[in-house]
Amino acid sequence: MRSSDGYLVDRFLKLKEERSAYVIAHYYQRPEVQDVADFVGDSYSMALAARETSCQTILVAGVDFMAETAVILCPEKTVLTPEPEATCPMANDITARDVLEYKERYPDSIVVCYVNTPAEVKAVSDVCCTSSNAAKIIEKLPPGARIFFIPDRHLGHNIAHRLNRSIDLFHSCCPTHEEVRLNELLELKRRYPAAKILVHPECRPEVVEVADFAGSTKAIIQYAGSSDADSFIIGTECGILHPLQKANPGKEFILATEDLICPNMKSITLEKMIHSLEHMETRVEVEESVRDKARIALERMIEYSS
Ligand code: SF4
Repeated sequence: MRSSDGYLVDRFLKLKEERSAYVIAHYYQRPEVQDVADFVGDSYSMALAARETSCQTILVAGVDFMAETAVILCPEKTVLTPEPEATCPMANDITARDVLEYKERYPDSIVVCYVNTPAEVKAVSDVCCTSSNAAKIIEKLPPGARIFFIPDRHLGHNIAHRLNRSIDLFHSCCPTHEEVRLNELLELKRRYPAAKILVHPECRPEVVEVADFAGSTKAIIQYAGSSDADSFIIGTECGILHPLQKANPGKEFILATEDLICPNMKSITLEKMIHSLEHMETRVEVEESVRDKARIALERMIEYSS
């Protein structure tokens, strides 16, 4: 660690204590950001951590929908983002109008909304999900129900295939996970024949099909930790390498392709987190009427996942 990094870490930890702030970070954050967080996890466990902490101030090191989720679940707490421009292009592809138009055509349908969506979209959806619980939630829906899965067509397709169920899909997908391509993956597998392929279900269907395991970031970390294998080809954002290597120093992790970087996740830095706590900004707000409706879909997710 450079001495300037040490200074930033000390400064941040001091501020965190002074503000009694609870810091929640996603596994796709920079290693130094993950290392100063109170909690590091996937979207689902981040939402639960926000709900469970007794701290009144929460700093979310993740993209905007993650901070919004914390606000929706804990409206009485102060939720801060170190970088208000950190967003998810896939989440921004869909609007509440898209959902309402579908509902008008199919009034009896059930809208299952991936957590990667703006609060306004959650507010008009029936139930939220994350990659860790989407299949479990859809399995709990009535067998004959017409389901609209939004906005990730790859995740929706992969779940529909796994459950052998017909699901209507929105057209968006994650530009980072789209970078994992079958030919590169197979080439890596030729070079590392003993390596297990672990991918996120936001990847293309043909990639998920050849993987040894597809799951959320948390599930990938658990799989690698309990597997007898010594090497793994990883098909998700490069931030996950940090917790994987920390927890498994004797194992080898090979990224499926060089371009597995989410620029929005990486736009959060220690400097910005210090600024955020120093000035208690930027506070994330969700309008009350939207918040109350969106909370129903999120609470349903938590209920159906248990
Ligand atoms: S990795 Fe993909 S889904 Fe996640 S925040 Fe970045 S663009 Fe959105």
